[in-house]
Amino acid sequence: MDEREILADVLRDLAQTLRHHQDLGVTEISLAQAPVVDPREALRTQEAALQGCPRCKLSTSRTTVVFGSGNPRARLLVVGEGPGEEEDRQGKPFVGRAGQLLTKMLAAVGFDRERDCYIANVVKCRPERNRNPEPDEVAACTPFLMAQVDTLQPAVILALGNFAAQTLLATREGITKLRGRTYEYRSSVLVPTFHPAFLLRNPGQEFKRMAWDDLKLARREYDRFT
Ligand code: SF4
Repeated sequence: MDEREILADVLRDLAQTLRHHQDLGVTEISLAQAPVVDPREALRTQEAALQGCPRCKLSTSRTTVVFGSGNPRARLLVVGEGPGEEEDRQGKPFVGRAGQLLTKMLAAVGFDRERDCYIANVVKCRPERNRNPEPDEVAACTPFLMAQVDTLQPAVILALGNFAAQTLLATREGITKLRGRTYEYRSSVLVPTFHPAFLLRNPGQEFKRMAWDDLKLARREYDRFT
């Protein structure tokens, strides 16, 4: 890569970061002040800025904006698709049956959900009747996930299911093809695997075995970088 390409990459990243801040309601950046570095504080500010968000049509069907939960200093970020009925009611991600399975999956490779992980979704509001999020909704909400990634700077991102993996990797490839290997993602390593809701719908051993392999891969990468 020559110097002009490197400079173009840096300017593109800067423009993207500024757009994220604009989406979060920031209208002015003071160069005299040190930037907010406490991730807990930064996530709290982002969550507060999202309350009442009207940026896509999911705002009309939700009860609560489900921003994310977990340890703001976690080195493992788990990304799902969007809130379901129970998540919408409680305002927290992965609290239904799929969430219980996720907790068990994480524990199986030694991750404590509250201590070691931060969990968020691609879209922060529940699609009606749990339909798939539409492209305009994913596009509207992705900057908020990007801001979470930038704040947490996780060592490993576990992307659950098609939407999370496809959104983060900017591909239309399905999860069955994407899983089983790692990807570089910003300063993190991304490991795609099946969504726990999919595993609940497909209780056969084949998918469970593949998910288990992916979790072990995520654990190995986590141990390598932390
Ligand atoms: S899904 Fe995201 S962009 Fe759409 S209304 Fe909710 S918070 Fe806003």
